[in-house]
Amino acid sequence: MVIEDDKYVIHGDKSSIPVPQELLGEFIFDSLLNTHVEYDALVDAFTGKSISYQQILKDTCNLSEALQQFGCNSDTIISVCSENSLNFFTPVIASLYLGATVAPINHFYTEHELNHVLNLYRPKVVFCSIETIEKFLNLKLKMDFLEKIILIDEDTNRFDVENISAFVNRQLQGKLVNPKTFRPFTGANPCDNVSFIMSSSGTTGLPKGVMLTDRNILIRVVHSKDPLITTRPIYGNTVLGLMPFFHGFGLNVTLNSILNKEKVVVFKKFDEDVFLKTIQDFKISTVAIAPTLATFLAKSPKVKKYNLSCIEEIICGAAPMSKELENVLKKRLNVSQIRQAYGLTECNLAVTMMKRSDLLKPGSSGLVISMMSIKVRDPETGRSLGPNQVGEICIKGPMVMKGYYKNPQATKETFTEDGWLKSGDLGYYDEDKYFFIVDRLKELIKYKGYQVAPAELEAILLNHPKVLDVGVVGAPDEVAGELPLAFVAKKPGVDVTEQELVEAVAKIVSPQKRLRGGVVFVEAIPKNASGKILRRELRKRIPHSKINR
Ligand code: AMP
Repeated sequence: MVIEDDKYVIHGDKSSIPVPQELLGEFIFDSLLNTHVEYDALVDAFTGKSISYQQILKDTCNLSEALQQFGCNSDTIISVCSENSLNFFTPVIASLYLGATVAPINHFYTEHELNHVLNLYRPKVVFCSIETIEKFLNLKLKMDFLEKIILIDEDTNRFDVENISAFVNRQLQGKLVNPKTFRPFTGANPCDNVSFIMSSSGTTGLPKGVMLTDRNILIRVVHSKDPLITTRPIYGNTVLGLMPFFHGFGLNVTLNSILNKEKVVVFKKFDEDVFLKTIQDFKISTVAIAPTLATFLAKSPKVKKYNLSCIEEIICGAAPMSKELENVLKKRLNVSQIRQAYGLTECNLAVTMMKRSDLLKPGSSGLVISMMSIKVRDPETGRSLGPNQVGEICIKGPMVMKGYYKNPQATKETFTEDGWLKSGDLGYYDEDKYFFIVDRLKELIKYKGYQVAPAELEAILLNHPKVLDVGVVGAPDEVAGELPLAFVAKKPGVDVTEQELVEAVAKIVSPQKRLRGGVVFVEAIPKNASGKILRRELRKRIPHSKINR
């Protein structure tokens, strides 16, 4: 029998900064209205084009008014599906002024994947880029809930689709909004109002919609202003807008940079030289990245061609980073500390983080962040565990999601009886309360920090006429962290090759989810009595030739 207990709970500090009590849209609006900085807010790393804080304020007020006239309100869901761009945050912020819910969508998604998320979220309006629009034009025909597609790229009239300016001009008939008289929506409770739905597969199954409230996001805003967490001068700083904006990492970091009046250099894609040159030319002092880029910085010969002495600290999250890599990187870039952070979309990202401190703990993801609490729970007994004992990381506090959108069953299964979010990660804390993440209990695979849900690939492969059964796991990989690999039992008497299946999957899924780890043919997929795939068993069976470490 499972008996929950809270004997060993590690609490983060109280916040030294008051938590805003208003809605997120109001908070952002007030911040922009009171921004009087001379420099640009966002700069495109490739073209040098930029957008100022004043422009963002005007654009977001106009777009918000236009959306309202189009019939959007606090009950509306609005999606943004674009690579990182100067205009990405315009529809995000405009929607938040209305109290509406923003559902960012991975711009790599194929039509097959979009079909799943769009039918789940049912957005009334989708903001697309030139790169993603064609997929939406095809899908719109099948989706009656999707009333409007708007291009976020300005300089184009292609596709016969309105861009933001055209939409605003037509809706407002030239009567542009004066930000001084504009008022955002105030009629909801920030602890209840859902500002974002983010995609995550959680501990099992297909991608789901993580409902994050205004308060969830505002706690992260507080963290971004907390000198104990943000150890750099914020105002006037230049930072990288490199992590994808559709993921909580890029979304929170960049939104907070805008709120903190930083300058963000936006990357629509990763390019080795542009990345290094930007750090050098803009004298970037804090570099926030996922471990794959940390590996690049630690190993690439290109790094030597640039002067990166401006880097003071590296913040790394979204996937595990070994202490060996941490040490190599520290030495190579001559930085005193790499600050790892650990978290998940379901609690709006980082819940532990290395502070700048004298205590050097390579490989650790740091201390519990302020206002949050963590316990390490024995998954079998439910008991909380003391120092140096490995169990499931469970989380409580004001950043924990409201639940999965339209999925009460998955929500119920993700929480313990007494309200702790089960992360599906295994870890422990040491005597100094520093956390170490050691393994994953859940099914999730992380390829370069991107989520890959095994259940999604398994469903696709099970549909293949030559496949009898399948189990997908992550094969360890030095650069990507893990590569999706499928164990496949063929149907009797058929002939099928590894390449055939790899290609079949690649046709349906976005690049991160391809079977880059390959296929291993087996007689049968190991399962427990209730038919659950024994993934640990499968992981042990990954051939050495498929492990790149
Ligand atoms: P996501 O919701 O996409 O951010 O993925 C969250 C998952 O990424 C976590 O549940 C972990 O499995 C993994 N993860 C994130 N940060 C770390 C870290 N610092 N160390 C180990 N795993 C991590």
